[in-house]
Amino acid sequence: MTTMVETMDYDEVVERFDPVLGLEVHVELSTATKMFCGCATTFGAEPNTQVCPTCLGLPGSLPVMNGAAVESAIRIGLALNCQIAPWCRFARKNYFYPDMPKNFQTSQYDEPIAFDGWMDLELPDGETVRVGIERAHMEEDTGKSLHVGGATGRIHGASHSLLDYNRAGVPLIEIVTKPIEGVGARAPEVARAYVTALRDLLRALDVSDVRMDQGSLRCDANVSLRERGVSEFGTRTETKNVNSLRSVERAVRYEMTRQAAVLAGGGEVVQETRHFHEADGSTSPGRVKETAEDYRYFPEPDLVPIAPSEEWIERLRGTLPEKPAERRKRIQQDWQLSDLELRDLLNAGAVEVIASTVDAGATPDEARSWWVSYLAQQANTRGVELAELPISPAQVARVIALVNSGELTNSLAKQVVDGVLAGEGDPDDVVAARGLAVVSDDSALNAAVDEALAAQPDVADKIRGGKVQAAGAIVGAVMKATNNQADAKRVRELILERCS
Ligand code: ADP
Ligand code: MG
Ligand code: ZN
Repeated sequence: MTTMVETMDYDEVVERFDPVLGLEVHVELSTATKMFCGCATTFGAEPNTQVCPTCLGLPGSLPVMNGAAVESAIRIGLALNCQIAPWCRFARKNYFYPDMPKNFQTSQYDEPIAFDGWMDLELPDGETVRVGIERAHMEEDTGKSLHVGGATGRIHGASHSLLDYNRAGVPLIEIVTKPIEGVGARAPEVARAYVTALRDLLRALDVSDVRMDQGSLRCDANVSLRERGVSEFGTRTETKNVNSLRSVERAVRYEMTRQAAVLAGGGEVVQETRHFHEADGSTSPGRVKETAEDYRYFPEPDLVPIAPSEEWIERLRGTLPEKPAERRKRIQQDWQLSDLELRDLLNAGAVEVIASTVDAGATPDEARSWWVSYLAQQANTRGVELAELPISPAQVARVIALVNSGELTNSLAKQVVDGVLAGEGDPDDVVAARGLAVVSDDSALNAAVDEALAAQPDVADKIRGGKVQAAGAIVGAVMKATNNQADAKRVRELILERCS
């Protein structure tokens, strides 16, 4: 979007105005099957291969509730310190959109399964902010439209659109905050810290892949401004589907500077949805916001109400992971970190990925050294968070295991990581496809050693004469001949054996 929009200098914004935030996060659950049918939910499958009459909304089909999704919803609610509704229902939210074949979304409206909770977040400087949670409700995802034939991939200028209903009916939880007030200039930072903390909590609950880049965690950011000293809220805008942590921060900041310029110029902020533009960090108008009445909500007649028993809720409470603050304390002890080291890892967004790498079998030191050096560089170059890199902690742990077993050297391991980051598959796939395994076959290595000795007879003579240091030149030649795929220590041993 290149229309000229006025913005106000940020310092002036926060001097004159007080921002209010509201964050809506949609999280796709990682259940094996969809919310109301038995279709698989695997990401990236061939379009329209994971569909059935129910999720396609064909006449006469009936929904059946996914019990595992309800359990995840209750666990999320409990982890967010919410009340769990003793009785609640689904509702139909009626609207037409091509990627929603039923013409209504089965959602929850005035009877969410979880409500009135809170979450504490720690800002990078150690300050704690408590964010109120209004509700966490269950719903289903829509399908995906792909607009073809235009330059931008957007609907404008496209010649036609393709629809993939694989995602239609995947269980979603929408988590909505109460208005976040009183954070002033730190509003953008708080927004980012909230989504980060929520993502970490959901990951610890093991209920979702929480991949913002793949859309399994999506954030809509509501922002409004009011004059300092005024208690009524200003009109909000809702920036939709912001898909990285950094973008959440940028979108909030931009909306503050844009709305301030509108208000200072005597204008009114329009209540609307807005799109975020990664390239320049701006937002542009979407649609004028519907009101709840527009959706003609009514209770879903094809599903039974949910009435979780006390025992069920208490059993689920027993499955909650350690609280983030306690977990941090334990990690600091287990990994033997100073306060400063822990703070650095937290600010680098490295604690959770390292912890998961440790859970997958690496030692804390091994895991830490990968995430704070090589992987941190890769994340930096790409401008993403460590957790957003397209490599999982389990994959990093596998690379570490391959190094420990001698199947990879450190330099080969980096190439394997590059391959995983480039989307070439799991570490073992990359090793096989790129032929990166260490040459550990002694007969192959001996042949390379003999060749190198023959090529440098004077060096060979020195070694035979007892000058062991001279072996370095031969090791170098063998490493070169094997594309760095030999274990240098083993090569040295073989050279000395040959020359003794
Ligand atoms: P909608 O259906 O419009 O998406 P929701 O209730 O789902 O509305 O979410 C609105 C979010 O915006 C909530 O987090 C709410 O706390 C927050 N919010 C409400 N009013 C304001 C306002 N004036 N300024 C900023 N945030 C607001
Ligand atoms: Mg909403
Ligand atoms: Zn289905």
